[in-house]
Amino acid sequence: MIRSKEELMKANNPACPICRKDDQTIPLHILYKELLEGKAYNFSSGLTRVKLVSYISPPGLPGKNRLLSIHPDLLAGIGIFVVLYLLVSQMNGVVFSPSALLITAIAGILIYLGFRKRLLDRYQKTIAERVALVKIIRSQVDIWMDMIYCKTDYLVYSPDLRLQIKVEKLSDYWKSDQRLHG
Ligand SMILES: [Zn+2]
Repeated sequence: MIRSKEELMKANNPACPICRKDDQTIPLHILYKELLEGKAYNFSSGLTRVKLVSYISPPGLPGKNRLLSIHPDLLAGIGIFVVLYLLVSQMNGVVFSPSALLITAIAGILIYLGFRKRLLDRYQKTIAERVALVKIIRSQVDIWMDMIYCKTDYLVYSPDLRLQIKVEKLSDYWKSDQRLHG
């Protein structure tokens, strides 16, 4: 009998540590791909496709603090440009003279230079944290790629069984692991 690719994948999975079987197991990344592709599954005990996808999606960068990872000089440049643009476009019908614009630009740059050192320090710290975080996430994705899901027990586990997590706890696990090592 020729076995399908999926059957071969299943046959290679280490047995689930709870039910001691492998017949209801599937590599996590394959399950994720199949869910996104809309493959039919019997979802039971309150589990839905959307929920399961959110539980098992691969670990990634948190979306917050995006602005902090833009270089301060670039942000300040844009800020000063926007102010000058608003002045030039003569808000409220007031016409600004070229010298007033120049003074505004210089004042803006001076104010920025006063804060620049502090902003640069924070920027460098943010970038360093980002680099460290990306490293952690990369190793998390490696773990994720190897993980197996047991449909009977809603359990996600690593092949060496060192990691065993109920599927609804998985995304929290990645986040707390990031905080721990970040
Ligand atoms: Zn099981």
